[in-house]
Amino acid sequence: MRWEDERQSDNVEDRRGQGGRFGGMTVRRGGIGIGTIVLALLGGWVLGINPLEILGLIGGVDGGPAVQAPAPSAPGRQGVSPADPGGRFVSTVLASTEDAWTEVFRRGGAQYRPPRLVMFTGATQTACGLGQSAIGPFYCPEDQTVNIDLGFYQMLQQRFKAPGDFAQAYVVAHEVGHHVQNLLGISDQVQTAQQRARSQEQANAYSVRLELQADCLAGVYGHFNEQYLEPGDVEEGLRAAAAIGDDRLQRQSQGYVVPETFTHGTSEQRVRWFREGFRTGDTARCDTFRAATP
Ligand SMILES: [Zn+2]
Repeated sequence: MRWEDERQSDNVEDRRGQGGRFGGMTVRRGGIGIGTIVLALLGGWVLGINPLEILGLIGGVDGGPAVQAPAPSAPGRQGVSPADPGGRFVSTVLASTEDAWTEVFRRGGAQYRPPRLVMFTGATQTACGLGQSAIGPFYCPEDQTVNIDLGFYQMLQQRFKAPGDFAQAYVVAHEVGHHVQNLLGISDQVQTAQQRARSQEQANAYSVRLELQADCLAGVYGHFNEQYLEPGDVEEGLRAAAAIGDDRLQRQSQGYVVPETFTHGTSEQRVRWFREGFRTGDTARCDTFRAATP
């Protein structure tokens, strides 16, 4: 991935080195992570989401549910470009998501409002509660922040065997995908449906679709940044998507797989939806809610 000379984002807040002094709590509501990182789902949801509404996607943004401007919370270094390679990389990837989504929204006649990205070590306070490194990177819709402890990348490389810069970019792009879902009102619909759901199993099924859609949107991001990709990059992204599929994670951690407890989808599903977004660059192809089986 060629990124060295590209622009860095102004929407990064560097809180690294401040973490670790909180205890006990975890993200309590609304946070959406990347792996099997179970951020308590509030109840469940029913399959009552209108796919047309979902994939009227772009058009409805400006007139849609009000999304408040992110309010800065705990002080960190904001708008300061990180100088270390890891920080610079993430900041540059974030900038490339801004460019991609600005363009996609513009084509849909809407304006993209980027999220803030908070880099932290150990733990960080968000409007969704306390985020800890152990849960992996996550998006908090309440304050529209993507939160990431760069230590996750080591885990991705060593434990999940998914090294490479595009694998790392995919992680950011997936979380930004959740931000796009938030802007489009999809996350809200999902939450409403969740509250009506009758079983945890049903709730999980919706979570899977939301996650797979974020993977597809990460693919759309990749499509718009194809000019920066080098041979092998897409495979890196796919490997990362596969590595953090629920089935593989469960097999790794407990030795067997329980599909009803999936919240993010299988490796095969994650790869397939990422590929679909990447191939088409079309958000309308990311309708994971319409597919009979995602
Ligand atoms: Zn996710």
